[in-house]
Amino acid sequence: MVNSLLLVDDEPNVSKSLSRLLRRDQYEIYTANSAEEALDILERHTIKVVIADQRMPHMTGSQLLARVKNQYPETLRIIISGYSDFEAISEAINEGEIYRFLSKPWNSKILRSDVRDAFQTQALRQHNRQLSQLFDSTIEAIVLTDPKGIIEAVNPAFSQLSKFASEDVLDLPLRRFFVSPSDEPLEENLLTEQAGKEWHGELICKKNGGGELPVWLSFMKITGPSEEPHYAALFIDITEQKRKEARIEYQAYHDELTGLPNRRLFSNHLELALHQRERHKHKSGVLFLDLDRFKTINDTLGHEVGDELLKAVAVRLLTVVRKCETLARFGGDEFVLLLPVLRNIQECEAVAQKIIDCMREPFNCSGNTVYISTSIGISLQLNDAQDTQTLMRHADSAMYRAKALGGNNFQFFDKASNTKLKKLLQTENALHKSIENDEFIPFFQPQVDPQTGLICSCEALVRWQHPEKGIISPGSFIDVAEYTGLILPIGRRVLQQACEQLAYWQYQRNLSCNLSVNLSALQFNDANLLDDIRQLVVTYQLDPQWLELEVTESVLLTDIDSSIRILSTLRDMGLRIALDDFGTGYSSLSYLKQLPVDTLKIDQSFVRELPDDRKSCVITHSMLKMAKELGLSVVAEGVETKAQLDFLRRGGCDLIQGYLFSPPIASESFIGLVLKHCCSEE
Ligand code: C2E
Ligand code: CA
Ligand code: CA
Repeated sequence: MVNSLLLVDDEPNVSKSLSRLLRRDQYEIYTANSAEEALDILERHTIKVVIADQRMPHMTGSQLLARVKNQYPETLRIIISGYSDFEAISEAINEGEIYRFLSKPWNSKILRSDVRDAFQTQALRQHNRQLSQLFDSTIEAIVLTDPKGIIEAVNPAFSQLSKFASEDVLDLPLRRFFVSPSDEPLEENLLTEQAGKEWHGELICKKNGGGELPVWLSFMKITGPSEEPHYAALFIDITEQKRKEARIEYQAYHDELTGLPNRRLFSNHLELALHQRERHKHKSGVLFLDLDRFKTINDTLGHEVGDELLKAVAVRLLTVVRKCETLARFGGDEFVLLLPVLRNIQECEAVAQKIIDCMREPFNCSGNTVYISTSIGISLQLNDAQDTQTLMRHADSAMYRAKALGGNNFQFFDKASNTKLKKLLQTENALHKSIENDEFIPFFQPQVDPQTGLICSCEALVRWQHPEKGIISPGSFIDVAEYTGLILPIGRRVLQQACEQLAYWQYQRNLSCNLSVNLSALQFNDANLLDDIRQLVVTYQLDPQWLELEVTESVLLTDIDSSIRILSTLRDMGLRIALDDFGTGYSSLSYLKQLPVDTLKIDQSFVRELPDDRKSCVITHSMLKMAKELGLSVVAEGVETKAQLDFLRRGGCDLIQGYLFSPPIASESFIGLVLKHCCSEE
C-alpha cells in the first residue's frame, strides 16, 4: 500500500519546500493551497497522513483537521505552524483531532523522522482496528488471559457459545469453564504449562445455566516484547461433528437392517467375555443360529418380505435374550448369541430350547403367514484356552450339524466332529498336493474264468503312491476325494494310465485281456466324460470292446433318464458297462431291465458268506439265474476261498475276482502273473 501524504498550506512555497524535503521518503504527495482544496483531494484519494498549516484564510488548519477526523477517522492529522499558535490549538490536540504539532521553521531531519513515525502509527492503528474487528466478528470463540490464566477479554463468539456475558467471566480463571471429555477438571496449571508449546485438544465447555458444549480448543502463548506472556484460548463448537462421528461409529458396529450389533461389535463383546473369564473362571457360550429354508422364503415371497421377516425374527429373539447377552446379526439369515456367563451347560441348553420354541408361532410379514425354524450350533468356552475365532468356527460347524440333522434343533460342538473335520481338511490338502505330484496310479486285479482258470480280464483300482507312507488304498481317501470333487482329476488320471497299460499289454506284450475301470458319480455325470473316453480310444488305438466301465446302481438311479442316455452312448461307442456292488443298493429289478448294462458284479458281502449262509446262497443263486435270463455276464467279487469258488463255478458265474487268485497288483507284476498263468495252464 502506498503511503499517501497531503500537504495543505496557503503559501505555495511552503508546500513546495516540504514536498521537496519529503519526496526522498517515497511518499505519494498531494498538495493543496486551501482547506477547501484539501477536502476535495481527501474525497477523491485515500490519504493516510495530512499535514496542514494552522493559519489559512476561511478555515484554520485545526478546523480542517476536526472535519477530517469526522469524515476520515483513519487519516492521521498533523498541524505545522509557528510556536505562537500552539496555545490556540492545544485544545484540538487534547481532543485527539491532532496527532502531532510540528513547529515552523522546521529541522529537516526531525521533520522527516516525525512524518515517518506518523505513517508507522497510522499503519499500527489500522492493523489494530482490523484485529479487533476480527476478534468481534469471528465465529471462533476467543478468550484472552493474563499470565496466570485469569480472563482479561472474551469476544462475542465466546458469549454466544457459552452463554456467559463478558462481565460474567472477566477476572475469573479460565480453567473454571472447561473440563476434559472424561469429565475430569483441568489441572491447575495445565493450560499455562502446555501453552509454551501450543496445545490443541477436545474439551467440554461448561455453559452458563448448566449444559455442556464439546469444543475443539487451541491454547497459545502470546508473547509481547518484554512483558510476561499472556495467553489466548480459541475454540469452536464441535457438537455437529461429534454427532456425525457417533452416527458413523454406530453404523460401523451395527447391522443396518435389524439394528442389532454386527460381527465386529460381537467379536469385541466375545473377546471381553473371554478376557473376563480368565479372571472369574466362569464359562461362556456362543450360539450360531441359521434360519432353516430362509432362502426359499426369500425367493418365493421376495426380498422385502425376507427383510421384514429378519427384522421380526430379531425382535422375537430379543424377547428371550437377557440384557447381559449379546445378540448379533452377521448378515443373511445368520444370528449369533453370546452368553457371557454360564454356570453350567444345562443353562445353555435351556436358552437354545427357548429360541427354538419362540420360533414356533408363525410370523406375519406383509399379510403373509410365515413359519420358520432355526438350526443352532453351540460352542462353549470351558477350560482350555480358546480364542474368539475358534469358538465362532466351532459354533458354526455345530450349526451345520444341526442343519444336516434336518434343522429346527441345536447341536453342541464336540471334539469328535472337530477331529473328523480336521482330518478331512488335512486329507484334502494332501490330495491337492499329490494330484500335482502325479502320485495316483492304477493297480490291477485279475478276473479269472472259473472253468479254465485263465485270466480274461482285470479291474483297475486306484492306489496312492505316497512318497513317505508308501502305497495307500482308496479306503482312506476316496470318500474325501468324492466329497471335495477331487475324484474328477484323480479318476481321469487313473483311467488314462489304465488305458495306456491296456494298449501296452495288447500291442507290446501280446496279451489279450480286458480292462474294467471304476467311475464315481461325479465322473459319470461329468460333461467331459464321453469326449475323454473317445480321445483315449483314439490316442491308444484301443478296441472299445476291451474296455468296461463300472458304475454303481445308486449312481445310475439318481437320474435314470440321463443315465440311460449316457450308458447308451457309451455302448454305442462299443464300450461295456458293469453294474458294480450289485445287491447292496436298491436292486430295483424293473430298472435293471431298462438299463443298458453288460455285466453284474455280485458284491463281496454276499460272496463272503458263501457257501455256509443259506440266505446268501439263495440270493447269489437267484442273481446268477436272473443275469443269465437277461443275457448279462456275472463277476463275483471278493472270492477268498476254494469253497466260494466251487459254489460260484457250479452256479455258472462267468468270472471270479478275489484274493484267492490275487490282490490288486502293479502293472509289471500283473503281466508276470498273466504270463506265468498262461504257461502253467498250457
Ligand atoms: P470296488 O469297486 O468294490 O473294488 C473292489 C474292492 O475289493 C477293492 O478294494 C479290492 O481290493 C477289494 N477286494 C478284491 N478282492 C478282495 C477279497 O478277496 N477280499 C476282500 N476283502 N477285498 C477284496 P480297493 O482297491 O480298496 O477299492 C475300494 C473301492 O474304491 C472300490 O470298490 C471302488 O469303489 C473304489 N475305487 C477304487 N479305485 C477306483 C477308481 O479308480 N475310481 C473310482 N471312482 N473308485 C475307485
Ligand atoms: Ca439358512
Ligand atoms: Ca469296482
